[in-house]
Amino acid sequence: MRGLPDPTPPNLSLPDVVGSAGTEPIVQLHGVGKRFASGLEALDGIELSVARGEFLSLLGPSGCGKSTLLRIIAGLSEPTRGTCRVSLGEPGKPIPSGRIGFVFQDPTLMPWSNVAANAELPFRIAGRVGAEERDRVAAALRAVGLAGFEGAYPHQLSGGMRMRVSIARALVTDPELLLLDEPFAALDEITRLALNDDLLRLWETRRPTVLFVTHSVFESVYLSTRIAVMSPRPGHIVADLPVALPHPREGARTSPGYAAMCETVSGALGMAMTDART
Ligand code: ADP
Ligand code: MG
Repeated sequence: MRGLPDPTPPNLSLPDVVGSAGTEPIVQLHGVGKRFASGLEALDGIELSVARGEFLSLLGPSGCGKSTLLRIIAGLSEPTRGTCRVSLGEPGKPIPSGRIGFVFQDPTLMPWSNVAANAELPFRIAGRVGAEERDRVAAALRAVGLAGFEGAYPHQLSGGMRMRVSIARALVTDPELLLLDEPFAALDEITRLALNDDLLRLWETRRPTVLFVTHSVFESVYLSTRIAVMSPRPGHIVADLPVALPHPREGARTSPGYAAMCETVSGALGMAMTDART
């Protein structure tokens, strides 16, 4: 995360971030705005409702507040206006740890720990690492294609493999809500396409609700069931577009439906940029 530290300390038990299982949206944002202590207005009037099982991309230009929005949803930062409600776990109770997984743009691995120990981190923080937890780590590493690399250290891995460890670490607790902040932006094109497919397979098998931040039109269309297009800062949502392409998506990149959707999304993004300049 860039910029100065946010004055708000992390707190997942904020009054409006309480558990409530059921059919209601998993994330509900109403009139959300964020003005930093510096006076900078990052977000304004965000309206967003995310249903369980959706794969939603937040697409917008650099600096429009995507990371800020994701941090608010994760409970790492509070909005200065409006409300953010995340419904996970039991009604009225604080969200149990591990129900939200967060993947940053940088894999943020511990260089002194091997792959298995890095992926195990959420359990170590929670103070429980037994046989069941080790099984879950092994399963998550298998799911991201890293079986056999448990003993390797981060410096022995490629950029794509390091990102896979980071995704495995977010998956070990089997989160209902997976937040990813431009996880593939620093990777080469070929690795990025492969990881797109891996992420899609994970979503298709485990069906977490995914919020995926990106500034790539092509990536957002390939991955998502829905795309929220954001305006330049202060960010707000200017278009909310369902992606009607069928799953599995392998092969979709050459389909006419994919090309047409990319054109629609590019148009919405272009309009947001033009409106901001006028
Ligand atoms: P994005 O992820 O879309 O690139 P960010 O959410 O990181 O955008 O940032 C939105 C704006 O808020 C940027 O202008 C950024 O410099 C600013 N910003 C981010 N974090 C802070 C902070 N803690 N304090 C002050 N300004 C910040
Ligand atoms: Mg960002």
